[in-house]
Amino acid sequence: MTLASRKILRDLLGAKFWPATLLFLVSFLALQLIGVSSGPFLELGSLRAQLVGLTEPSTSLSDHQNPAVGPPSGPNVLVKALSSSATLPPKPKALTGKLCSVRFMAVGDILIHQSVRNSAALPNGSYDFKPAFELVAPIFRQADLVIGNLENPLAGSAKGYSGYPMFNAPEQLAQNLKDVGFTSLNLTNNHSLDRGLEGLKSTIAYVREAKLDYSGAYLDEEDKKNRLVSFYNGVGVALLGYTYGLNVPYKVEPGLEWRLGVIDKEQVERDVAAARATGADFVVVSLHFGNEYELKPNAGQRALAEALFNSPNGAPDLILGHHPHVVQPFVEFKDKSQAVIFSLGNFISSQPFPYTFLGLILDLRLTIHPDGHKSIEEINFIPTYCHKIQLKGASRRIFRVTPMAVAAASPKSYSLDDKTAKTMAVHLAQQLTHLKSLDAESLKAASSAPSSPKVPSINQAAAEVSN
Ligand SMILES: [Zn+2]
Repeated sequence: MTLASRKILRDLLGAKFWPATLLFLVSFLALQLIGVSSGPFLELGSLRAQLVGLTEPSTSLSDHQNPAVGPPSGPNVLVKALSSSATLPPKPKALTGKLCSVRFMAVGDILIHQSVRNSAALPNGSYDFKPAFELVAPIFRQADLVIGNLENPLAGSAKGYSGYPMFNAPEQLAQNLKDVGFTSLNLTNNHSLDRGLEGLKSTIAYVREAKLDYSGAYLDEEDKKNRLVSFYNGVGVALLGYTYGLNVPYKVEPGLEWRLGVIDKEQVERDVAAARATGADFVVVSLHFGNEYELKPNAGQRALAEALFNSPNGAPDLILGHHPHVVQPFVEFKDKSQAVIFSLGNFISSQPFPYTFLGLILDLRLTIHPDGHKSIEEINFIPTYCHKIQLKGASRRIFRVTPMAVAAASPKSYSLDDKTAKTMAVHLAQQLTHLKSLDAESLKAASSAPSSPKVPSINQAAAEVSN
């Protein structure tokens, strides 16, 4: 763990938005005192040491080993389920009577516009995006699973790199994302076919080469089946992905539904049911949907989330929304057994519109309780701010994703001027309120009302990102 990582963890622990971590520690101590096994959790000493930054995180939580490319070893290593029910191996299910959980993190759109790409260019012609994620990497390393929406194809340099409207990002991005802690990418969105089917296949190839898992688009039907469920700490997690549409003409052909997930309620239900049959305890569905730049979900988003959550045929546990490019609220359903974040916002981009520089690391635990019931616990919001920044000794400004609580706690340490630090503090407070501005009841009541982009009200930082 680097000095920077230790500092970020200390700042986060000191920040007000970290009650879930404290709650976790208290619960953990209580479990220890009453003699309940720690189950999948770390030994107490190791956990405490990690939180204060004294040691490297344990291998089981930090290396995100992809079972598709490496043999599993030990109880905490991910074990990929095989797809054929006839040949299913004994499933590494959670042991009865124990609390088992997966620490899960999700971010929104990874959009490599031209200016983001230029800021990552190296003198030798290659690219390095890692500096942009320096402050979030120590957070990601605390998770078992980290997923983001890759909104640009990686079609290779021969095709020529490009930003909006027909993206092609440098292929080094895949390995960079792996290096900073991502474990999985959603590959289905309106830009998936910007460089055609060949571009999509190339994207999958680079993502596979980086040993990242992926969902929403596949090489073939077998690839989709093989990637359906992964096991973390004995908990089966399925990741699925669907988009409202594509920016180039595309029709789902019969028999080729595996190629690219396109929103179709019945198809989602079929896939969820297949995931359950393959051993998924939790099914997480990425939905690329909604109106761009609107701060509240539209009627279509609300209706689809409700319909899926109430589906008798295949209801997911967690829905991750993206595409609006701004953060939309988080809503819990049915006593925390289901939840939706309607939009995670942009994780990295140079979009110049209000609030598009704001994003969110959604941090939670998918938990199986000793009595067997499942719920979404320790929900923690880590709002982020994507901006250009001149770091000491650097030849030019770079894009950086900054957790706003870190900046508010110690702005000077992160090379922030007073104005930017103040802007972040305001956005942080607004974002936390905004995220909780809908609940299941108000969602139902609002489903007939037009969506309204009312909150928050500050947008002065947008210009900083656009140049
Ligand atoms: Zn989109």
